[in-house]
Amino acid sequence: MVSDPSGHGFETRAIHAGQEPDPRTGAVIVPIYQTSTYAQDRVGETREGGYEYSRTANPTRTALEQALAALEGGRHALAFASGMAASDAVLRTALRPGDHLLLGNDAYGGTFRLIDKVLTGWGVSYSVVPLSDPDEVRAAVRPQTKLIWCESPTNPLLGIADISALADVAHEVGARLVVDNTFATPYLQTPLASGADIVVHSTTKYLGGHSDVVGGAVVTDSDEIADSLFFLRNSAGAVPGAFDAWLTLRGLKTLAVRMERHCDNAEFIAQALTEHPKVSRVYYPGLPDDPGHALAAKQMRRFGGMVSFTHADGERAALDMAARTRLFVLAESLGGVESLIEHPGRMTHASVAGSMLAVPAELVRLSVGIEDPRDLLADLRAALEGQGR
Ligand SMILES: *Cc1c(COP(=O)(O)O)cnc(C)c1O
Repeated sequence: MVSDPSGHGFETRAIHAGQEPDPRTGAVIVPIYQTSTYAQDRVGETREGGYEYSRTANPTRTALEQALAALEGGRHALAFASGMAASDAVLRTALRPGDHLLLGNDAYGGTFRLIDKVLTGWGVSYSVVPLSDPDEVRAAVRPQTKLIWCESPTNPLLGIADISALADVAHEVGARLVVDNTFATPYLQTPLASGADIVVHSTTKYLGGHSDVVGGAVVTDSDEIADSLFFLRNSAGAVPGAFDAWLTLRGLKTLAVRMERHCDNAEFIAQALTEHPKVSRVYYPGLPDDPGHALAAKQMRRFGGMVSFTHADGERAALDMAARTRLFVLAESLGGVESLIEHPGRMTHASVAGSMLAVPAELVRLSVGIEDPRDLLADLRAALEGQGR
C-alpha cells in the first residue's frame, strides 16, 4: 500500500491519508466493509481495487494501511490481527534455520517468548544484548545475524536505543533492523527515517488508543520485504477483521492530540514521583537525569506516556500499592485514554521470569492516561501512602 505523497503534516495525514470520502455515496468516514468476498464481473475480472477475498485484502483494512504507511513515512503497511501476529510475520519472513538474531535485554515479554519458545524450535538462535550500547551490539553480531530487534523506549524500563547507530551496525553485516515502535508511536519518532528497515506495531496500544481493539501492523519501504510479508499473511491468514481495522483507523485520527496529553501527564507524574519518599527510582526518559534523556531528546519529539518506578519498600509493597489505586486500573496493556497500573514481574513480564530479561521485583509500570493529571497524582499518592481501595 503506497503512502500518501501529499507532504501534509502529521495531524492532517492521520485524518485524511487513505480516508477519502466514499466515491459512491459520499460517506465521509471509510465504511466497515463487513464482507468476506467480492463479486467478479467475469471469471478473474475483479472490480475497482481488485478485491477478491478478505483474507487477501479488504477496503477498510486498505484504508488503515494507507494511513499507517503515511504516518510512519513508509511505502508499505500491512495490518495484522495482533502485534504478535505482526512480529511473527516479520520473524518468519526474515529468518531461516541457522540464522541468528539480536534482541534487546528489555524486550516485550511476548516477543521474547515467541523467539525463545517457537523460533528456536525451527533452528533459529538469538543473543540478548543491551541495545543502549551500540559497541556491545557490534561485538555480539555474528556472520549468521540477519535481524536486530529493537524497542525504544523499552518495556518496562523505558531504556532508549540509538536507532540510527543500530541501523548502521545491522547494515554493516547485511542484517536488517526492526524497530517495535509501539511505545513511541509515529507521532514521537519515525524509525524508517533513522535507517530502520522494518517498523512493527501493536496497534492495540496508542494507535487504537481506547483499549477496545487488538491489532498489529508492519511498515517498510522495501518492496521485497512487503511482498514476502504479504505472501505470508495471505498464506497464514493473521488478518484483522473489518470492524477492528475501522476502530483502529478511528483511533488514529486523534493520535497526535492524545499523545500530547499523554506526554504532558506522564512528565508531570514522573517528576512528582521523583519527590515521593516511597519511590526509590523513576524510569522516564523525559527526566533530565534519566540515562536515556539526551538520546531521547535527540531522537523523539517528546518522551511518551509510559512511566515505571520502583517501590522503596520492596516487592510486597509494590504489589499492594498497585492494587490500591482507584483511577489507575490494575490491568495489563497500555496506551489507552484511561490510566493503567501493573506489576511487570507478575503480570506483563511473567514470561521472562528467571531469564536475562527479568525485571526488578519492586517495579511498578504506569500507562499514564489523558485524565486530569491532578486526579491521577492524588490517586498514586493515596495508594503509595497506604490509602485506597
Ligand atoms: C503489546 C505489545 C506487543 C504485542 O502486541 P499484541 O497486540 O498484544 O499482540 C508487542 N510489543 C510491544 C512493545 C507491546 O507493548
